[in-house]
Amino acid sequence: MTATTSTPGDLDRRRVFHPFSIPGAHERDGGPAMIVSGSGSTLTAADGRTYLDAMAGLWCVNVGYGHPKVAEAIHRQAVKLPYYHSFSSMATDQPALLADKIIELTGDLGMSKVFFGSSGSDANDTQVKLVWHYNNLLGRPQKKKIIARHRGYHGVTVASASLTGLPAMHAQFDLPLPQVRHVTPPYSLWERRPGEDDAAFSARLAAELDALIVAEGPDTVAAFIAEPVQAAGGVLPPPEGYFPAIQAVLRKHDVLMIADEVVSGFGRLGGWFGSHVLGIEPDLMTIAKGVTSAYVPLSGVVVSEHVWKVLSGDGGVFQHGYTYSSHPLAAAAALANLEVVEEEGLVAQVSARGDHLRARLNEALGDHPLVGEVRGLGLVAAVEFVAERGEQPKRFDPSLAVAARITRACLERGMITRALPAADTISFSPPFTIAEQEIDQIVAIAREAVDSVADALA
Ligand code: PLP
Repeated sequence: MTATTSTPGDLDRRRVFHPFSIPGAHERDGGPAMIVSGSGSTLTAADGRTYLDAMAGLWCVNVGYGHPKVAEAIHRQAVKLPYYHSFSSMATDQPALLADKIIELTGDLGMSKVFFGSSGSDANDTQVKLVWHYNNLLGRPQKKKIIARHRGYHGVTVASASLTGLPAMHAQFDLPLPQVRHVTPPYSLWERRPGEDDAAFSARLAAELDALIVAEGPDTVAAFIAEPVQAAGGVLPPPEGYFPAIQAVLRKHDVLMIADEVVSGFGRLGGWFGSHVLGIEPDLMTIAKGVTSAYVPLSGVVVSEHVWKVLSGDGGVFQHGYTYSSHPLAAAAALANLEVVEEEGLVAQVSARGDHLRARLNEALGDHPLVGEVRGLGLVAAVEFVAERGEQPKRFDPSLAVAARITRACLERGMITRALPAADTISFSPPFTIAEQEIDQIVAIAREAVDSVADALA
Protein backbone atom coordinates (compact mmCIF):
# COMPACT_ATOMS: atom_id res chain seq x y z
CA MET A 1 0.00 0.00 0.00
CA THR A 2 1.44 3.41 -0.89
CA ALA A 3 1.35 6.40 1.40
CA THR A 4 -1.28 8.11 -0.77
CA THR A 5 -3.86 5.33 -0.23
CA SER A 6 -3.13 4.91 3.47
CA THR A 7 -5.18 6.68 6.15
CA PRO A 8 -3.35 8.91 8.65
CA GLY A 9 -4.12 6.18 11.22
CA ASP A 10 -2.23 3.59 9.12
CA LEU A 11 0.67 5.99 8.63
CA ASP A 12 0.80 6.79 12.33
CA ARG A 13 0.98 3.11 13.19
CA ARG A 14 3.65 2.40 10.57
CA ARG A 15 5.78 5.54 10.70
CA VAL A 16 5.52 7.38 14.03
CA PHE A 17 7.72 6.37 16.96
CA HIS A 18 5.52 7.45 19.87
CA PRO A 19 6.83 8.82 23.17
CA PHE A 20 5.84 6.93 26.35
CA SER A 21 4.11 4.18 24.35
CA ILE A 22 4.85 0.49 23.72
CA PRO A 23 6.58 0.61 20.31
CA GLY A 24 5.75 -2.89 19.05
CA ALA A 25 2.14 -2.78 20.26
CA HIS A 26 1.58 0.61 18.64
CA GLU A 27 3.05 -0.55 15.34
CA ARG A 28 0.78 -3.61 15.45
CA ASP A 29 -2.48 -2.19 16.85
CA GLY A 30 -2.29 1.62 16.60
CA GLY A 31 -3.66 3.91 19.31
CA PRO A 32 -7.09 4.62 20.77
CA ALA A 33 -7.83 7.88 18.92
CA MET A 34 -6.51 10.22 16.26
CA ILE A 35 -7.38 13.74 17.35
CA VAL A 36 -8.04 16.14 14.48
CA SER A 37 -9.52 19.27 16.09
CA GLY A 38 -10.29 20.95 19.37
CA SER A 39 -12.50 23.71 20.72
CA GLY A 40 -12.58 24.87 24.35
CA SER A 41 -12.28 21.69 26.45
CA THR A 42 -13.51 19.31 23.73
CA LEU A 43 -11.46 17.32 21.24
CA THR A 44 -12.75 15.66 18.08
CA ALA A 45 -11.25 12.50 16.62
CA ALA A 46 -10.96 11.43 12.97
CA ASP A 47 -13.87 8.99 13.43
CA GLY A 48 -16.11 11.86 14.59
CA ARG A 49 -16.11 10.91 18.29
CA THR A 50 -15.71 13.76 20.78
CA TYR A 51 -13.84 13.76 24.09
CA LEU A 52 -13.95 16.09 27.07
CA ASP A 53 -10.28 16.72 27.83
CA ALA A 54 -9.94 16.71 31.61
CA MET A 55 -6.14 17.00 31.27
CA ALA A 56 -5.78 20.04 28.95
CA GLY A 57 -3.48 17.89 26.83
CA LEU A 58 -0.57 17.26 29.20
CA TRP A 59 -1.49 19.85 31.89
CA CYS A 60 -0.88 22.64 29.41
CA VAL A 61 -3.71 23.96 27.19
CA ASN A 62 -4.76 26.44 29.84
CA VAL A 63 -6.82 28.80 27.65
CA GLY A 64 -8.54 25.87 25.92
CA TYR A 65 -8.33 24.72 22.32
CA GLY A 66 -8.86 27.05 19.37
CA HIS A 67 -8.60 30.40 21.11
CA PRO A 68 -8.77 32.91 18.21
CA LYS A 69 -6.61 35.53 19.93
CA VAL A 70 -3.64 33.18 20.29
CA ALA A 71 -4.14 31.74 16.80
CA GLU A 72 -4.25 35.22 15.25
CA ALA A 73 -1.09 36.32 17.07
CA ILE A 74 0.73 33.25 15.74
CA HIS A 75 -0.44 33.99 12.20
CA ARG A 76 0.55 37.66 12.42
CA GLN A 77 4.03 36.83 13.69
CA ALA A 78 4.54 34.04 11.12
CA VAL A 79 3.89 36.51 8.31
CA LYS A 80 5.99 39.30 9.86
CA LEU A 81 8.99 37.36 11.18
CA PRO A 82 8.65 33.61 11.81
CA TYR A 83 12.16 33.20 13.12
CA TYR A 84 15.40 34.83 13.87
CA HIS A 85 17.98 33.64 16.38
CA SER A 86 19.31 35.21 19.55
CA PHE A 87 22.96 34.05 19.52
CA SER A 88 25.80 36.60 19.63
CA SER A 89 23.53 39.23 21.21
CA MET A 90 21.18 39.37 18.20
CA ALA A 91 17.60 40.11 19.26
CA THR A 92 13.97 40.09 18.15
CA ASP A 93 11.22 42.13 19.76
CA GLN A 94 8.69 39.51 20.96
CA PRO A 95 11.02 37.62 23.37
CA ALA A 96 12.09 40.96 24.86
CA LEU A 97 8.47 41.93 25.54
CA LEU A 98 7.71 38.46 26.86
CA ALA A 99 10.70 38.30 29.22
CA ASP A 100 9.65 41.62 30.70
CA LYS A 101 6.07 40.37 31.11
CA ILE A 102 7.23 37.18 32.82
CA ILE A 103 9.44 39.10 35.25
CA GLU A 104 6.49 41.42 35.98
CA LEU A 105 4.26 38.41 36.75
CA THR A 106 6.84 36.93 39.15
CA GLY A 107 6.22 40.03 41.28
CA ASP A 108 8.34 40.16 44.42
CA LEU A 109 10.25 36.91 43.84
CA GLY A 110 13.45 38.81 42.97
CA MET A 111 13.68 37.58 39.38
CA SER A 112 15.74 39.35 36.73
CA LYS A 113 16.29 37.46 33.43
CA VAL A 114 14.71 34.74 31.28
CA PHE A 115 16.71 32.21 29.23
CA PHE A 116 14.32 30.69 26.66
CA GLY A 117 14.20 27.13 25.36
CA SER A 118 11.44 25.03 23.87
CA SER A 119 10.63 22.26 26.36
CA GLY A 120 10.49 21.78 30.11
CA SER A 121 13.19 19.13 29.75
CA ASP A 122 15.66 21.37 27.92
CA ALA A 123 14.98 24.15 30.44
CA ASN A 124 15.83 21.83 33.34
CA ASP A 125 19.00 20.80 31.50
CA THR A 126 19.81 24.50 31.31
CA GLN A 127 19.16 24.73 35.07
CA VAL A 128 21.74 22.03 35.76
CA LYS A 129 24.33 23.78 33.58
CA LEU A 130 23.60 27.17 35.15
CA VAL A 131 24.01 25.78 38.65
CA TRP A 132 27.29 24.08 37.74
CA HIS A 133 28.58 27.19 35.96
CA TYR A 134 27.51 29.34 38.94
CA ASN A 135 29.59 27.28 41.35
CA ASN A 136 32.54 27.16 38.97
CA LEU A 137 32.44 30.96 38.80
CA LEU A 138 32.34 31.13 42.60
CA GLY A 139 35.46 28.95 42.77
CA ARG A 140 33.57 25.96 44.27
CA PRO A 141 34.06 23.30 41.55
CA GLN A 142 33.14 20.49 43.95
CA LYS A 143 29.69 21.97 44.78
CA LYS A 144 27.75 20.20 41.99
CA LYS A 145 25.24 17.67 43.36
CA ILE A 146 21.56 18.28 42.83
CA ILE A 147 18.88 16.89 45.13
CA ALA A 148 15.45 16.13 43.70
CA ARG A 149 12.54 14.14 45.10
CA HIS A 150 11.32 10.61 44.48
CA ARG A 151 8.26 10.83 42.21
CA GLY A 152 9.34 14.30 41.00
CA TYR A 153 8.95 14.83 37.24
CA HIS A 154 11.41 17.19 35.60
CA GLY A 155 11.61 15.85 32.05
CA VAL A 156 13.46 13.26 30.00
CA THR A 157 16.74 14.66 28.66
CA VAL A 158 19.80 13.03 30.20
CA ALA A 159 20.09 15.57 33.01
CA SER A 160 16.39 16.24 33.56
CA ALA A 161 15.51 12.52 33.48
CA SER A 162 18.13 12.10 36.19
CA LEU A 163 16.31 14.70 38.29
CA THR A 164 13.01 12.91 37.62
CA GLY A 165 12.44 10.55 40.54
CA LEU A 166 10.65 7.71 38.71
CA PRO A 167 12.82 4.58 38.39
CA ALA A 168 11.09 3.46 35.18
CA MET A 169 12.50 6.55 33.47
CA HIS A 170 16.04 5.65 34.54
CA ALA A 171 16.22 1.90 33.92
CA GLN A 172 16.45 1.87 30.11
CA PHE A 173 19.12 4.57 29.98
CA ASP A 174 21.65 3.90 32.77
CA LEU A 175 20.46 6.92 34.73
CA PRO A 176 20.46 8.90 36.97
CA LEU A 177 23.73 10.80 36.54
CA PRO A 178 26.06 10.35 39.51
CA GLN A 179 25.57 13.95 40.69
CA VAL A 180 21.87 13.46 41.49
CA ARG A 181 20.22 12.36 44.76
CA HIS A 182 16.54 11.94 45.66
CA VAL A 183 14.65 12.46 48.92
CA THR A 184 11.19 11.45 50.18
CA PRO A 185 8.29 13.43 48.67
CA PRO A 186 5.46 14.95 50.73
CA TYR A 187 3.13 12.08 49.81
CA SER A 188 0.68 12.13 52.69
CA LEU A 189 -1.23 8.96 51.83
CA TRP A 190 1.85 6.72 52.03
CA GLU A 191 4.62 8.69 53.75
CA ARG A 192 2.85 10.43 56.66
CA ARG A 193 3.18 8.51 59.92
CA PRO A 194 0.14 7.84 62.11
CA GLY A 195 -0.59 10.89 64.27
CA GLU A 196 1.81 13.15 62.36
CA ASP A 197 0.32 16.60 61.70
CA ASP A 198 1.41 18.90 58.85
CA ALA A 199 4.09 20.62 60.93
CA ALA A 200 5.62 17.34 62.14
CA PHE A 201 5.48 15.76 58.66
CA SER A 202 7.14 18.85 57.11
CA ALA A 203 9.78 18.95 59.85
CA ARG A 204 10.62 15.27 59.34
CA LEU A 205 11.03 15.68 55.57
CA ALA A 206 13.19 18.79 56.10
CA ALA A 207 15.31 16.86 58.64
CA GLU A 208 15.80 14.08 56.09
CA LEU A 209 17.04 16.65 53.55
CA ASP A 210 19.34 18.20 56.15
CA ALA A 211 20.79 14.80 57.05
CA LEU A 212 21.41 13.97 53.37
CA ILE A 213 23.19 17.29 52.73
CA VAL A 214 25.34 16.78 55.83
CA ALA A 215 26.14 13.17 54.83
CA GLU A 216 27.07 14.19 51.27
CA GLY A 217 29.01 17.22 52.50
CA PRO A 218 27.38 20.67 52.15
CA ASP A 219 30.32 21.82 50.02
CA THR A 220 29.29 19.22 47.39
CA VAL A 221 25.56 20.05 47.17
CA ALA A 222 24.59 22.80 44.72
CA ALA A 223 20.81 22.83 44.37
CA PHE A 224 17.46 21.34 45.30
CA ILE A 225 14.72 21.10 42.66
CA ALA A 226 11.02 20.71 43.36
CA GLU A 227 7.65 21.17 41.70
CA PRO A 228 5.40 23.27 43.97
CA VAL A 229 2.81 20.48 43.63
CA GLN A 230 4.33 17.27 42.27
CA ALA A 231 2.15 16.72 39.20
CA ALA A 232 2.98 13.62 37.13
CA GLY A 233 4.31 11.90 40.27
CA GLY A 234 0.82 11.79 41.78
CA VAL A 235 -0.56 15.36 42.24
CA LEU A 236 0.94 15.84 45.70
CA PRO A 237 0.18 19.18 47.39
CA PRO A 238 2.71 19.63 50.21
CA PRO A 239 1.65 19.82 53.86
CA GLU A 240 1.40 23.28 55.42
CA GLY A 241 4.87 24.64 56.23
CA TYR A 242 6.74 22.21 53.96
CA PHE A 243 8.55 24.69 51.72
CA PRO A 244 9.51 27.12 54.52
CA ALA A 245 11.02 24.17 56.43
CA ILE A 246 12.87 22.90 53.34
CA GLN A 247 14.16 26.38 52.48
CA ALA A 248 15.54 26.94 55.98
CA VAL A 249 17.71 23.84 55.41
CA LEU A 250 18.81 25.01 51.95
CA ARG A 251 19.77 28.45 53.26
CA LYS A 252 21.77 26.93 56.09
CA HIS A 253 23.89 24.98 53.59
CA ASP A 254 24.02 27.61 50.81
CA VAL A 255 22.09 25.36 48.41
CA LEU A 256 20.07 26.96 45.57
CA MET A 257 16.31 26.40 45.30
CA ILE A 258 14.98 25.61 41.80
CA ALA A 259 11.19 25.80 41.55
CA ASP A 260 10.03 23.70 38.61
CA GLU A 261 6.94 25.69 37.65
CA VAL A 262 6.38 23.88 34.33
CA VAL A 263 2.87 22.80 35.38
CA SER A 264 2.18 25.29 38.18
CA GLY A 265 3.37 28.47 36.39
CA PHE A 266 0.89 30.97 34.92
CA GLY A 267 -2.12 30.19 37.05
CA ARG A 268 -2.65 26.45 37.50
CA LEU A 269 -2.59 26.64 41.32
CA GLY A 270 -4.73 29.79 41.60
CA GLY A 271 -1.86 32.32 41.71
CA TRP A 272 0.48 33.39 38.90
CA PHE A 273 3.16 30.99 40.17
CA GLY A 274 3.16 28.06 42.58
CA SER A 275 5.96 29.88 44.39
CA HIS A 276 3.47 32.64 45.27
CA VAL A 277 0.82 30.17 46.39
CA LEU A 278 3.13 28.04 48.56
CA GLY A 279 5.58 30.59 49.91
CA ILE A 280 8.60 29.39 47.91
CA GLU A 281 11.54 31.80 47.46
CA PRO A 282 13.25 30.35 44.40
CA ASP A 283 16.70 31.25 43.13
CA LEU A 284 15.77 29.82 39.74
CA MET A 285 12.42 28.88 38.17
CA THR A 286 11.59 26.59 35.25
CA ILE A 287 8.64 27.51 33.03
CA ALA A 288 7.00 25.91 29.97
CA LYS A 289 3.50 24.55 29.18
CA GLY A 290 1.14 27.32 30.38
CA VAL A 291 3.34 30.15 29.09
CA THR A 292 1.89 29.52 25.60
CA SER A 293 -0.92 27.12 26.61
CA ALA A 294 1.17 24.77 24.42
CA TYR A 295 0.01 26.42 21.18
CA VAL A 296 3.72 26.65 20.29
CA PRO A 297 6.55 24.96 22.23
CA LEU A 298 8.30 27.39 24.60
CA SER A 299 10.15 27.06 27.89
CA GLY A 300 12.39 29.19 30.02
CA VAL A 301 14.70 29.44 32.98
CA VAL A 302 13.90 32.47 35.10
CA VAL A 303 17.02 33.67 36.91
CA SER A 304 17.01 35.72 40.10
CA GLU A 305 18.99 38.95 40.28
CA HIS A 306 21.47 37.55 42.79
CA VAL A 307 22.26 34.46 40.67
CA TRP A 308 22.46 36.69 37.58
CA LYS A 309 25.09 38.85 39.27
CA VAL A 310 27.36 35.81 39.53
CA LEU A 311 26.58 34.46 36.03
CA SER A 312 27.16 37.83 34.39
CA GLY A 313 30.36 38.50 36.26
CA ASP A 314 33.05 36.67 34.33
CA GLY A 315 32.92 38.52 30.98
CA GLY A 316 33.26 35.38 28.82
CA VAL A 317 30.78 33.94 26.30
CA PHE A 318 28.05 31.77 27.88
CA GLN A 319 28.60 28.53 25.91
CA HIS A 320 25.00 27.35 25.78
CA GLY A 321 21.95 28.07 23.62
CA TYR A 322 19.42 26.46 21.32
CA THR A 323 18.52 27.30 17.71
CA TYR A 324 15.02 27.95 19.03
CA SER A 325 16.02 30.00 22.11
CA SER A 326 13.99 33.25 22.15
CA HIS A 327 11.84 32.07 19.24
CA PRO A 328 9.80 35.11 18.12
CA LEU A 329 6.75 33.13 16.99
CA ALA A 330 6.58 31.24 20.30
CA ALA A 331 7.03 34.49 22.21
CA ALA A 332 4.21 36.16 20.25
CA ALA A 333 1.97 33.19 21.09
CA ALA A 334 2.95 33.50 24.76
CA LEU A 335 2.21 37.23 24.90
CA ALA A 336 -1.24 36.68 23.39
CA ASN A 337 -1.87 33.71 25.69
CA LEU A 338 -0.93 35.67 28.83
CA GLU A 339 -3.15 38.54 27.65
CA VAL A 340 -6.05 36.08 27.41
CA VAL A 341 -5.34 34.76 30.91
CA GLU A 342 -5.34 38.33 32.26
CA GLU A 343 -8.28 39.71 30.24
CA GLU A 344 -10.54 36.74 30.95
CA GLY A 345 -9.64 36.70 34.66
CA LEU A 346 -8.58 33.06 34.37
CA VAL A 347 -6.29 32.90 37.42
CA ALA A 348 -9.21 33.78 39.69
CA GLN A 349 -11.39 31.35 37.73
CA VAL A 350 -8.89 28.55 38.45
CA SER A 351 -9.62 28.82 42.17
CA ALA A 352 -13.39 28.75 41.66
CA ARG A 353 -13.32 25.86 39.16
CA GLY A 354 -10.77 24.00 41.27
CA ASP A 355 -13.00 24.23 44.36
CA HIS A 356 -15.91 22.97 42.27
CA LEU A 357 -13.87 20.08 40.83
CA ARG A 358 -12.61 18.89 44.24
CA ALA A 359 -16.07 19.24 45.83
CA ARG A 360 -17.69 17.16 43.05
CA LEU A 361 -14.92 14.55 43.10
CA ASN A 362 -15.30 14.22 46.87
CA GLU A 363 -19.09 13.87 46.60
CA ALA A 364 -18.91 11.33 43.79
CA LEU A 365 -15.87 9.32 44.83
CA GLY A 366 -14.73 10.31 48.35
CA ASP A 367 -16.52 7.37 50.01
CA HIS A 368 -16.13 4.89 47.17
CA PRO A 369 -14.69 1.56 48.37
CA LEU A 370 -11.91 1.77 45.76
CA VAL A 371 -10.81 5.32 46.62
CA GLY A 372 -7.97 6.00 49.05
CA GLU A 373 -7.80 9.75 48.59
CA VAL A 374 -9.14 12.70 46.58
CA ARG A 375 -6.59 15.54 46.58
CA GLY A 376 -5.54 18.64 44.72
CA LEU A 377 -4.87 22.36 44.74
CA GLY A 378 -6.02 25.03 42.31
CA LEU A 379 -7.24 23.39 39.11
CA VAL A 380 -5.27 20.18 39.46
CA ALA A 381 -6.66 17.16 41.24
CA ALA A 382 -6.20 13.42 41.59
CA VAL A 383 -8.03 10.35 42.81
CA GLU A 384 -5.91 7.50 44.17
CA PHE A 385 -7.28 3.97 44.27
CA VAL A 386 -6.45 1.45 47.00
CA ALA A 387 -7.17 -2.19 47.67
CA GLU A 388 -8.02 -1.36 51.32
CA ARG A 389 -9.05 1.98 52.76
CA GLY A 390 -8.51 3.22 56.31
CA GLU A 391 -5.73 4.30 58.66
CA GLN A 392 -3.26 1.96 57.00
CA PRO A 393 -4.40 1.63 53.39
CA LYS A 394 -3.14 -1.17 51.14
CA ARG A 395 -2.07 -0.85 47.53
CA PHE A 396 -3.48 -2.88 44.68
CA ASP A 397 -1.23 -5.43 43.03
CA PRO A 398 0.32 -3.31 40.21
CA SER A 399 -0.38 -6.09 37.70
CA LEU A 400 -4.12 -5.30 38.06
CA ALA A 401 -3.37 -1.89 36.42
CA VAL A 402 -6.42 -0.40 38.16
CA ALA A 403 -5.81 3.26 37.22
CA ALA A 404 -5.02 2.37 33.59
CA ARG A 405 -8.28 0.39 33.36
CA ILE A 406 -10.21 3.32 34.79
CA THR A 407 -8.71 5.79 32.30
CA ARG A 408 -9.59 3.40 29.48
CA ALA A 409 -13.16 3.18 30.78
CA CYS A 410 -13.25 7.01 30.89
CA LEU A 411 -11.99 7.24 27.31
CA GLU A 412 -14.67 4.79 26.12
CA ARG A 413 -17.22 7.13 27.73
CA GLY A 414 -15.82 10.23 25.99
CA MET A 415 -13.55 11.70 28.69
CA ILE A 416 -9.75 11.93 28.83
CA THR A 417 -7.90 11.63 32.13
CA ARG A 418 -4.43 10.16 32.83
CA ALA A 419 -3.20 7.21 34.85
CA LEU A 420 -0.08 8.56 36.57
CA PRO A 421 3.09 6.45 36.61
CA ALA A 422 3.91 4.11 39.50
CA ALA A 423 0.65 4.72 41.38
CA ASP A 424 -3.02 3.83 41.05
CA THR A 425 -3.88 7.46 40.54
CA ILE A 426 -5.84 9.33 37.88
CA SER A 427 -5.43 13.06 37.40
CA PHE A 428 -7.53 16.05 36.38
CA SER A 429 -6.02 19.27 35.05
CA PRO A 430 -8.57 20.77 32.64
CA PRO A 431 -8.36 24.05 30.74
CA PHE A 432 -8.92 27.12 32.95
CA THR A 433 -11.84 27.99 30.65
CA ILE A 434 -13.78 24.83 31.48
CA ALA A 435 -17.46 25.31 32.45
CA GLU A 436 -18.83 24.01 35.76
CA GLN A 437 -21.25 21.85 33.83
CA GLU A 438 -18.34 20.25 31.94
CA ILE A 439 -16.65 19.53 35.27
CA ASP A 440 -19.88 17.84 36.42
CA GLN A 441 -19.82 15.70 33.26
CA ILE A 442 -16.17 14.77 33.83
CA VAL A 443 -16.88 13.69 37.40
CA ALA A 444 -20.03 11.74 36.41
CA ILE A 445 -18.04 9.84 33.77
CA ALA A 446 -15.21 9.19 36.24
CA ARG A 447 -17.71 7.73 38.73
CA GLU A 448 -19.23 5.44 36.08
CA ALA A 449 -15.77 4.31 35.01
CA VAL A 450 -14.68 3.58 38.60
CA ASP A 451 -17.89 1.60 39.20
CA SER A 452 -17.35 -0.45 36.04
CA VAL A 453 -13.79 -1.36 37.09
CA ALA A 454 -14.94 -2.06 40.66
CA ASP A 455 -17.52 -4.52 39.23
CA ALA A 456 -14.86 -6.19 37.11
CA LEU A 457 -12.52 -6.52 40.12
CA ALA A 458 -15.24 -7.92 42.44
N1 PLP B 1 8.85 19.69 34.63
C1 PLP B 1 7.60 19.37 34.97
C2 PLP B 1 7.09 19.76 36.33
C3 PLP B 1 6.75 18.70 34.08
O1 PLP B 1 5.51 18.35 34.45
C4 PLP B 1 7.25 18.39 32.80
C5 PLP B 1 6.40 17.70 31.82
O2 PLP B 1 5.32 17.23 32.10
C6 PLP B 1 8.58 18.73 32.49
C7 PLP B 1 9.35 19.38 33.41
C8 PLP B 1 9.15 18.36 31.16
O3 PLP B 1 8.60 19.15 30.17
P1 PLP B 1 8.66 18.69 28.62
O4 PLP B 1 7.78 17.49 28.49
O5 PLP B 1 8.15 19.92 27.90
O6 PLP B 1 10.07 18.41 28.29
